[in-house]
Amino acid sequence: MSKVQDFKKEAARIASDQNHRRTIQFNMSKYDLAVANGRKRYKNLELAKEQASIIKNQVINQLPDLLMEFETKVLNNGAEVYWAENQEQLIDQLSELLKAEQVKMLVKSKSMVTEEIELNHHVNNLCIESVETDLGEFIVQTAGEKPYHIVTPAMHKSKQDIAELFNKEFGTDKNLSAEELTAFVRKLLRKKFIKADVGITGANFLCAKEGAVAVTENEGNALLTASYPKTHIVIAGIEKLIPSIENLPLFWPLLASHGTGQQLTVYSNLFFGPKKSTEVDGPEQMVIFLLDNKRSEIYSDKTLQSSLKCIRCGACLNACPVYKNIGGYTYSTTYSGPIGSVLSPHFKDFGDYNHLSFASSLCGSCEEVCPVKIPLTKLLLYNRQKAIVVQSGFDRFLNKSLYTSLSNRSLMNAFNSFFKNLATSLFGNNLVGKDKDLPSFSRKTFNQQWKKHIKR
Ligand code: SF4
Repeated sequence: MSKVQDFKKEAARIASDQNHRRTIQFNMSKYDLAVANGRKRYKNLELAKEQASIIKNQVINQLPDLLMEFETKVLNNGAEVYWAENQEQLIDQLSELLKAEQVKMLVKSKSMVTEEIELNHHVNNLCIESVETDLGEFIVQTAGEKPYHIVTPAMHKSKQDIAELFNKEFGTDKNLSAEELTAFVRKLLRKKFIKADVGITGANFLCAKEGAVAVTENEGNALLTASYPKTHIVIAGIEKLIPSIENLPLFWPLLASHGTGQQLTVYSNLFFGPKKSTEVDGPEQMVIFLLDNKRSEIYSDKTLQSSLKCIRCGACLNACPVYKNIGGYTYSTTYSGPIGSVLSPHFKDFGDYNHLSFASSLCGSCEEVCPVKIPLTKLLLYNRQKAIVVQSGFDRFLNKSLYTSLSNRSLMNAFNSFFKNLATSLFGNNLVGKDKDLPSFSRKTFNQQWKKHIKR
């Protein structure tokens, strides 16, 4: 079955799954409430978003220079920098490093880019245990699943689902409360932090002027991941740059308020390199991997490059009516929701994944909530245009015919309602899915009705 057929089948199945709907609606409603309160804390949210957008535009314009500046500062700080053109190169470089250090176990804090390169899978192939330390990530790892959402990986699970999972995997009581489940994981992870040879984190922001890595989190696990083991490895996409730590007072609250509704996340960490000879705590070695993985190709497209402004707050996913119906797993990609539908076809094979750009009602809610003002609907439409070019066979014919007729009023008026309804009933479900009710054309054309209306 092709990716698009898989997608349609899974979307139809999950959209009618009442349990899934109940859990997502419950978790999203809590998010909506928190975010509404988070936004109220801003005197002028639009101004903050405008400023963030401008800074991120500047970053895009100066990306090569800022990357070089960041590297120079990181090296001065005593850390190492590896550049990886793609996933394979990064995994090769990382494997060499882990083998040289004779690593047996590593701890990880939440990082979508490590999901993008399927780090755990590759590390396990080296017989190295990789332990997720973010609670949500720990839950999905224990369940043998992938993150469901870029900010809240276990959003699709209820408290009872998690209690039953832990009962099965660890023998804990099925009736544990959320607090007791959390305490259980906390105790288990402490031992892992102490034992781990390496800690791997992502980066929310890379600060060019200071060569610093900014990581925000709510559980303290990223701080422990970075500071307990003797080696701290950072893996980040090249788009994560901001000019300086001076921009963090703008970006940190925007990320927190749009991601979880908080004023600030509980821990806001800045890592400036390995520990100095005068310092007691911290890793002896710090290595930063800068991953391209098709970001340069996106960068070279003047329209698409604004998608690299994304700070992965997840707000557009939560606002999206399609995401709320089909859930995170249906996309079959690391990045889901509106930004995922823009980026994933380019990160993966565009021919196989361009259907994701059609998984949007184009209602504009995603664009409205985006804290860095990414024109998501425009980018989705841009992908759709590109998709028509690479589509083949019947789908291409259908889409082209639809585009040609819907954009030409005279052509629409040339056929009567019988013919139009016949064509819709024969081919319409190929475009919108077989479970959708299609509207029928009225006997009078739009122009005929309009004339009658004007005459009245
Ligand atoms: S596109 Fe905007 S709203 Fe969506 S995750 Fe990125 S920054 Fe957040």
